[in-house]
Amino acid sequence: MNIRFLGTHNEESRDTRLVSVLIDDVLAVDAGSLTSELSFKEQERIRAILLSHGHYDHIRAVPAFAFNNSQQLTRVFAAQETLDILSSHLVDGLIYPKFTEKNSFLKKPALELCRLEALSPQDIEGYTVMAVPLNHPIGTVGFEITSPEQKRLLYATDTGPGLHRLWESTSPQLLVIDTTYPDRLEKTAWDAGHLCPKLLLKELADFRSTKGYLPRVVLIHLSPKFEAEIRDEVRGVSSELGIPIKVASEGDTITI
Ligand SMILES: [Zn+2]
Ligand SMILES: [Zn+2]
Repeated sequence: MNIRFLGTHNEESRDTRLVSVLIDDVLAVDAGSLTSELSFKEQERIRAILLSHGHYDHIRAVPAFAFNNSQQLTRVFAAQETLDILSSHLVDGLIYPKFTEKNSFLKKPALELCRLEALSPQDIEGYTVMAVPLNHPIGTVGFEITSPEQKRLLYATDTGPGLHRLWESTSPQLLVIDTTYPDRLEKTAWDAGHLCPKLLLKELADFRSTKGYLPRVVLIHLSPKFEAEIRDEVRGVSSELGIPIKVASEGDTITI
């Protein structure tokens, strides 16, 4: 399983992109930077898009992607709440064509919205995908994605602390997880449903005591304004746990 990090931040600029990762060139997870970071040829290869939740930084490239790739049908998988936000705010037939239907612009639909139920594994393009509830102000799911070769990724952003049940229901080899704020903004992290290095440490310690191991850990959804501070604090978490922890950057790839 090859994981390519297209966007790894929560704020966009010339140097930072919104969250999106690509698995084996065919499965996209979140759509913050799905069009801006891929060539048209690369976009054409994508068969399905998984959306974690309805916040703008995770869904915003869906209409642009559908516009670019209207000759093919792309399936979008998400919880019903997220599909409703997408339909009422972005794929609404007002700011762009309604890509889920045939109309004067489209000879056939370019998007099919598919509902995911939490904790119910589903086959998507040969991968087993299980949506798992996270802790965030609006309904949000992470994804445990298992490849045909039994490589297993757990994608968990955006989320705040309290992930014990998540650890009980998954067994990833690679964990991609939210770390948005530095420790001095711990209260903001709690309030906004995100993690800081100190909260991450507690969650990873709980993972280890629940599962008896730690997976490879990659951090995502960093606030660029605090990145240097977060990276410094993550070094402390890393030495405390005795494992390497990677902070993802745009363009990184990881193979498991
Ligand atoms: Zn969010
Ligand atoms: Zn976000």
